[in-house]
Amino acid sequence: MRSNGSMLNKMEGRFECKRCGACCKGRDVPLALDDILRLSEFLGMDPDGFFSECCVEMAIDENTMALPFLKRYGEACQFLDDNICRVHFVKPSACEYMPSTIFGSLEHLRARMPSSCAIQHTKPESDERLRRIYMASMMITAIYYSKHGTFKFRLARPFIYRILLFKRSHEGIRKLFGNEIAQN
Ligand code: SF4
Ligand code: SF4
Repeated sequence: MRSNGSMLNKMEGRFECKRCGACCKGRDVPLALDDILRLSEFLGMDPDGFFSECCVEMAIDENTMALPFLKRYGEACQFLDDNICRVHFVKPSACEYMPSTIFGSLEHLRARMPSSCAIQHTKPESDERLRRIYMASMMITAIYYSKHGTFKFRLARPFIYRILLFKRSHEGIRKLFGNEIAQN
């Protein structure tokens, strides 16, 4: 999923994604609200249309509320094409920030990843900044869902704004408000 490898990573035995695509199979990818907007823009769809076509709301168990995930039509993620992510440059935060999105010990992380993953024999990057950003994005998404129950872009917009503020994504905010900000 990640692609920021380097010669230094190899020399130091640090985690470097091999782009094998194994972790893009057999799992559901959670979405933060800003992921939905970013993916829909990239695919040239309106956010609500993208959501109904490509996403699903589901609860992990009966004690949790339903949250958004990418829809899966088979074993692999709908965006995996010949082991390449079709949405690489705008991929969901859960993919982009991996392994900082998996909490717990190194053993726990390795147990969650495929046996072929580079993480099984290299050190994971522990990026607390990415972890905080991911946590905040998912918490704001959960707050939105506790209030509105389902995705509607019109309602989600102020929550997306909060996530983008947290990420300091000026580009994202500019796109979210378009001309409204430019005129103020
Ligand atoms: S969005 Fe891309 S990186 Fe994430 S699971 Fe799908 S194919 Fe893999
Ligand atoms: S399984 Fe590991 S090495 Fe393969 S794409 Fe996923 S993160 Fe990269």
